[in-house]
Amino acid sequence: MMRTHTCGELRPDHINQTVTLCGWVQRIRDKGGIAWIDLRDRYGLTQIALEDGVEAENLRGQVRTLGREFVLSVTGIVTERYAKNDKMPTGGIEIRPTALEILNPAKIPPFLIEDDTDGGDELRMKYRYLDLRRNPVRNGLMLRHRMAQAVRRFLDGQEFIEVETPVLIKSTPEGARDFVVPSRMNPGEFYALPQSPQTFKQLLMVAGFDRYFQIVKCFRDEDLRADRQPEFTQIDCEMAFVTQEDILNTFEGLTRYLFKEIKGLDFPTVPRMTYADALRDYGNDKPDTRFEMKFVDLTATVQGQGFPVFDSAETVLGINAITCAAYTRKQLDELTEWVKRPQIGATGLIYARVEADGQVKSSVDKFYSQDELHKWSAAFHANPGDLLLLLAGPDAKVRKAMSELRLEMGQRLGLRHKDTFSPLWVVDFPLLEFSEEENRYFAMHHPFTSPKPEDLALLDAPETIGQVRANAYDLVINGVEVGGGSIRIHDRAVQARMFDLLGFSPAEAQAQFGFLLDAFEYGAPPHGGIAFGFDRLCSLFGGADSIRDFIAFPKNNSGRDVMIDSPAPISEAQLKELSIATTVGVK
Ligand code: ASP
Repeated sequence: MMRTHTCGELRPDHINQTVTLCGWVQRIRDKGGIAWIDLRDRYGLTQIALEDGVEAENLRGQVRTLGREFVLSVTGIVTERYAKNDKMPTGGIEIRPTALEILNPAKIPPFLIEDDTDGGDELRMKYRYLDLRRNPVRNGLMLRHRMAQAVRRFLDGQEFIEVETPVLIKSTPEGARDFVVPSRMNPGEFYALPQSPQTFKQLLMVAGFDRYFQIVKCFRDEDLRADRQPEFTQIDCEMAFVTQEDILNTFEGLTRYLFKEIKGLDFPTVPRMTYADALRDYGNDKPDTRFEMKFVDLTATVQGQGFPVFDSAETVLGINAITCAAYTRKQLDELTEWVKRPQIGATGLIYARVEADGQVKSSVDKFYSQDELHKWSAAFHANPGDLLLLLAGPDAKVRKAMSELRLEMGQRLGLRHKDTFSPLWVVDFPLLEFSEEENRYFAMHHPFTSPKPEDLALLDAPETIGQVRANAYDLVINGVEVGGGSIRIHDRAVQARMFDLLGFSPAEAQAQFGFLLDAFEYGAPPHGGIAFGFDRLCSLFGGADSIRDFIAFPKNNSGRDVMIDSPAPISEAQLKELSIATTVGVK
């Protein structure tokens, strides 16, 4: 090795030892008579000190030629530090060098390699290898590494087998848009990159693997957001001979193990909530349950008093922003503007304050007597000092808007701490959802999810199809969907029925998914599984909103890697070889 120790390792116990460290120059302070260099590597920082008349003149001369991010090898003696720095693990010592070698000079980096950098997103991504030198980004990736190892340890301990499934597969019409890859050897034909290894893991169950997992890249050509990348990683799992209960218990075990191993946190059983209750109480199938603030349905309470907005509304909902009665007019106006933004979509906001003397003052006092308003506060079990916020309109729209308002108020009230974790299983999702646009049903999870046996009869009448529930579940933590899965169909006839409901003719179903339907005729065991969004799980554990800093080389919001400058055109010769005739995308 070129070094005897790392830059994070030396302590007062090492005093008087001769050591060699290698690393990057974080900082140089040259005060004339004395100079200090902070040398950095992945493990930490160590101070190198040189004094005129103590260290050889040639060393002092060398220091004057150094710049930030130069790569050095420093040999010297570990010495007790005069001014100790107890914020640094190595703060009790410094190195008095006897030899210093520049292993490689460096250009001045385009942004500061500090925890708080002056580099904007685009610049950091262009020079991602420099960004990765910064502690917060490196720590994110180290967390990811530790999470991946813990996942493997846990699942290996539970007899799961890690199997790699192919990356070049076939495009299917269900789900998100596929990324496709032209096949040179099969002109005019394309592979698709997997949106998930769903059918392969089911085939592994047919093959008798019994318990499978894979930490696997998946690809979806969708619009991007802070928590969505075109390629992302799943912890993908499948088990045979299990019920939904077994899967929930197994993966609750994994979740608990990760919290314990990574964050040192214990928590009791993960609560469960049905999809219907989640929508009723939180207007959202992934509620943030770090705080209550459940919806109260006031439709019956407020209608019939002559206030047209409420009287004409399908639904009137409220939340209680506890302790917010002191909100000023200005704050309430600002909140009203906030709910009226197109992303939230409410037409207005009605409020009522519960005053210190128990009187309720609302923004619609002229329609409601004190007695009526007391009915409102009673519905919330509100106390003096509380602020009731009401929205009215079409049911689905009001629930969505109220869900956003609830999250916003939770944020403003400081109820969404990054280091509080509130996991939740959401169960009993609908099997199908109707698309007005395409005038047909879509599988809410995916076409391989099994209906609840007790709801099977509802599939027979068109008016009840939408009510069929699935054996499907999501793991939600702090309002983030971190995982989702289902018990699968393992019967050919039921699977064929499902494709029929989704509008596939028998021939189309056979052409697209014949391999799976056929496999079901060769002894498919009952099976089910789940996949966790690994990038999201890491960002949640790391207390960040964006998944980017938990991915070594992420893409930007236009799906570009600005460092390698991809995607990029290819040459005409390459296109020709791939039998792609186009004038677009030619270099
Ligand atoms: N393949 C599913 C998904 O990607 C997860 C599962 O059902 O196991 O969402």
